[in-house]
Amino acid sequence: MVRTAQQFDIVVIGGGPGGYAAALYAAGAGLSVAVVEKDKVGGTCLHRGCIPAKEFLETATVFRTVAGAKEFGVLADPPAIDFSVSQQRKQKVVDQLWKGLEGLMKRRKITTFAGTGRLVGNHTVEIEDGTVLTGTSVVLAAGSVPRTIPGFDVDGRIVLTSDEVLALEQLPATAAVIGAGAIGCEFASMMSDLGVQVTVLEALPRMLPGCDEDVVAVVARSFKKRGIDVRLGVQVSGHKPQDGGGTTVLFGEGEQVTVDAVAVSVGRRPLSDGLLGDGAAVEVDDRGFVKVDELCRTTEAGVYAVGDLIATPQLAHVGFAEAIVAVKDILGESPLPVDYGKVPWCIYCHPEVAFAGMTEQAAKAAGFDVVTKKDPFAGNGRAMIVGDTEGLVKVIAEKGPDGRAGRILGVHMAGPWVTEQLGQGYLAVNWEATPDEVAAFIQPHPSLSETFGETMLALTGRGLHA
Ligand code: NAD
Repeated sequence: MVRTAQQFDIVVIGGGPGGYAAALYAAGAGLSVAVVEKDKVGGTCLHRGCIPAKEFLETATVFRTVAGAKEFGVLADPPAIDFSVSQQRKQKVVDQLWKGLEGLMKRRKITTFAGTGRLVGNHTVEIEDGTVLTGTSVVLAAGSVPRTIPGFDVDGRIVLTSDEVLALEQLPATAAVIGAGAIGCEFASMMSDLGVQVTVLEALPRMLPGCDEDVVAVVARSFKKRGIDVRLGVQVSGHKPQDGGGTTVLFGEGEQVTVDAVAVSVGRRPLSDGLLGDGAAVEVDDRGFVKVDELCRTTEAGVYAVGDLIATPQLAHVGFAEAIVAVKDILGESPLPVDYGKVPWCIYCHPEVAFAGMTEQAAKAAGFDVVTKKDPFAGNGRAMIVGDTEGLVKVIAEKGPDGRAGRILGVHMAGPWVTEQLGQGYLAVNWEATPDEVAAFIQPHPSLSETFGETMLALTGRGLHA
């Protein structure tokens, strides 16, 4: 039986940050929108990614705070963790946000279809239950899944990816984290703070690829102090499950570590398998990413792709930005492309990392003559008050003809609440401002953001404290 297609202005496949942002933005502009989602709207970010990971990192912060309470004269018992309660709290936060999102989509009159959508050509999307939708435009936002490595079959008990770690009812006593990117460092930090003995195994000679070296050094120092064993430049060759539970992970030149669980965090791959039928003219690259131009247009006219499905930074907020670009293009509003070199990056391990723009190393490699300035949080009054003085702010500016700091190329931070502090740095980089301009703004006192203000003031040639 051939079903009649239901017609919408936009059909979105995938209800994660890329897909729901496209749907909300389009519906807000008065377009009729359908979203096809096989699981729950909110996607990886809400259910298996950003939100649950940050919720557990906050649990780790509370643990550290209670452990350090005595220094403030607050007498409390030494903390212990009941992770099943942490898991319940995480779920409550996730479910509240999920219900909120569902309600918002309903109020915007977005029609959500349950199932797996497949673009079969001619802007037609089929769902496995036989439902057929056609859109004047189609937005592909199927997201990504964790990558795995040969020899490490995910069983949810010993070998875990982020999906399983974030669903644990109990933490292991010991764990190996494979990969020291954003996910690996967040998991290592969270688990270590909650009493897990953690070994990190990273193939590259450094942690946190893409971050400025001075920022990485802050995180590396803190991890070392907290007893996280970080092994860099090591290849992981396999693992041997042990009779009594746990497994022995083999790595490097004949080295091994026996742990209760292994968290594999070696990147995420786009979920383009099965998304495109033969009739679709959408091209996919050899890594599975859907090919797009700078306005997220695929190789099929009227079909867009956003979020983790395309080869751009795998960040929820980048998905939001791409969704807005795609919908504006659909509306004929001539959007500006996302400037991928200047998006904000925030990593929520302890100490936190946040940056926008070029690292010193990348700026030099791109041929810029640079002026840099770093200031530690150690001298910041508010940092001392909150008892968290580890870290720094580093600014990279283009050297002007007079030798002074000109256009700001990058702002990099590690330390207390820097993920919340990055806003000013992000604006400075994206406004292509100079330190002379930014230093004219007043920072509240006492505040953590004074370190950013000081760094900028110092770059004008005359700092107050630095
Ligand atoms: P990633 O690409 O950031 O890091 C993966 C790390 O694993 C790299 O350092 C890589 O060298 C290493 N690696 C790869 N294969 C390995 C192997 N066989 N043995 C040892 N090490 C190996 O990926 P991720 O941390 O899994 O995160 C996935 C994506 O999600 C990234 O794009 C990341 O930026 C994004 N993400 C961002 C945040 C954040 O910004 N807070 C949080 C979570 C995820």
